[in-house]
Amino acid sequence: MKIVIGQVAHETNTFSTIKTTKEFFQLWEWDHGHQIIERHQGVEDYLGGMIDRAKDLKIEIAPSFSAYANPSGLITKETYLQLKKELISSINSIGSFDAICIMLHGAGVAEEAEDLEGELLVALRKQFGYEVPIIVVLDLHANLSQKMVDEADLIIGDNLYPHIDSYDRGKEAIDLTAKILTSDLDPVMYLEKLPLLIPTSTTDHYPAKEINEVCWQWEKNEQVIDCTFYHGFPYSDTIDTGVSVLTVTNNNSRLAEKVSKDVSRKIWRLKMRFTRDYPAPKAGIQEALKEQMFPIVLNETSDNPGAGTPGDGTRLLEALIHANIEKSCFAAIYDPDVAEIAHDFGAGSVINVHLGGKSDSLHGNPLPIRAYVKSVTDGRFTQTSPMWKGIQVDLGKSTRLQVGAVDIIVCSVNTQVMDEQVFLLHGVDIKDYKVVALKSSQHFRATFELIAKKIITIDSPGLSTCNLKLFQYENVRRPIYPMDEMK
Ligand SMILES: [Zn+2]
Repeated sequence: MKIVIGQVAHETNTFSTIKTTKEFFQLWEWDHGHQIIERHQGVEDYLGGMIDRAKDLKIEIAPSFSAYANPSGLITKETYLQLKKELISSINSIGSFDAICIMLHGAGVAEEAEDLEGELLVALRKQFGYEVPIIVVLDLHANLSQKMVDEADLIIGDNLYPHIDSYDRGKEAIDLTAKILTSDLDPVMYLEKLPLLIPTSTTDHYPAKEINEVCWQWEKNEQVIDCTFYHGFPYSDTIDTGVSVLTVTNNNSRLAEKVSKDVSRKIWRLKMRFTRDYPAPKAGIQEALKEQMFPIVLNETSDNPGAGTPGDGTRLLEALIHANIEKSCFAAIYDPDVAEIAHDFGAGSVINVHLGGKSDSLHGNPLPIRAYVKSVTDGRFTQTSPMWKGIQVDLGKSTRLQVGAVDIIVCSVNTQVMDEQVFLLHGVDIKDYKVVALKSSQHFRATFELIAKKIITIDSPGLSTCNLKLFQYENVRRPIYPMDEMK
């Protein structure tokens, strides 16, 4: 038994003005063959799970092509064609094999390919036919299309947000592929799409947690192979954007339909519960200062680089500098120019710069600061979050600046904060801090729920605000809640 593994993963924020190119993927991951094993072996992510499980089961795997980029704007047509070509040609060069097991995210959008994953699956079928099983793993934020379901033999996705089950889903994909190849499983799927957009919703808490429990209850039925509540990615404006439920059964299409419809009804009943109001920066900081136990974590959900935002937004940072609280810190603001200046002047110097706010004006203006350069680093560390644990992170030239009482981490690569490593790299032990501010919507919870005495989500205008009514949707299927009145 020989299974091809691979990945093409991008979460596209179509409201971003920054286009995604091949260079952007190369900054993160553009690997072929054995490079994939070297990067992912021992890492608790999708491909790491596939590699480990295949080893356990003594199944031969053939790594093909793996491309991943931090979420960002529309993928250029040229880049999309290269992704498709690299995927097909790298699988072609493997020769004979029995199945393809691939991670595709599910919220990728390219110029002239609105449904990136659907188009890639069509291309794979065209090249390799319908005889070879294709098993797909998607992110919980996938905007599923019927085309993806029609072209794949089986699709599973993350159940949890933070996605701490990526590794388990990778392992499960290999298990299911093996079962299909030994004729122990004949999968059928039913996709139910809801006319619903939901803002970022952790599955650690109600209401998303409650929906997962309904899915897992159905999975106790031995004919139900998988039932997943996909939240969709609301910052991607396509006809398929939104919430969906996909059920896989062992050759029981009526049951698959029944389960997807049952879970969908429950989501629809709770639809209003997903929308919440969060405080603006100043109000959130004041709320934190009322607490007696620290640290309090403030997460800036409106500029979450994990959802394709610029990462140099200054709204929360400006309020934090203004509040000037003893023992407060912030990570990370994306500003390669300021990081470069800090490296040039070196630790122990004082610099006068404009920090952040350079990508656009939506996320705040550049902040004129006089800062003490406490440390400079290479921005490299190993991720310790239970989500994607073990992955090597490289944020380029980075620095810890001190402005008044506030410690600020500045990096040269845009990414959300997943764990405390970026703070530790710069000598900041957050357990000793009162207020820890960071850019992330939910993934930070995998680590920070255990450290924070309280988490306060901060919202303001931005490309990942929870206020979805601020976006001008042109392509989503209408009517859709909460943009339109629906019962
Ligand atoms: Zn996701």
